[in-house]
Amino acid sequence: MNDCLFCKIITGDIPCSKVYEDEFVFAFRDINPQAPVHVLVLPKEHICCADKIDGTNSHLVAKCFEAIAKIASAEGLTNGYRVINNCGEDGGQTVKHLHFHVLGGEKLSEKMA
Ligand code: AMP
Ligand code: ZN
Repeated sequence: MNDCLFCKIITGDIPCSKVYEDEFVFAFRDINPQAPVHVLVLPKEHICCADKIDGTNSHLVAKCFEAIAKIASAEGLTNGYRVINNCGEDGGQTVKHLHFHVLGGEKLSEKMA
């Protein structure tokens, strides 16, 4: 996926502020943070969006959520946090590599949309 911004971040071709990496998962700070803590968590394997999660790759989503718990702890989000996925045009997805926004560090808005 040569054209994918997040694939290039994973390979190091584009710099980022990395907060976590393991065999399956990569995480870095969002360049335009919407909360005091705003981390993007993604599978290293290119999956375009949540709509393409199936039995062949759902284990990678589980790995993302295992990482999210570790990242939240490391970031001191002891009072909770929000995990968001934007999917497709109507969902507002701008980068077509599956990722989860982890937001916290303050009391977040109760609005969902
Ligand atoms: P989404 O709109 O759900 O696809 O989220 C894409 C997110 O990627 C946005 O919150 C952007 O601020 C963030 N973003 C875009 N480019 C970069 C970058 N080079 N480094 C870090 N975050 C980025
Ligand atoms: Zn990608």
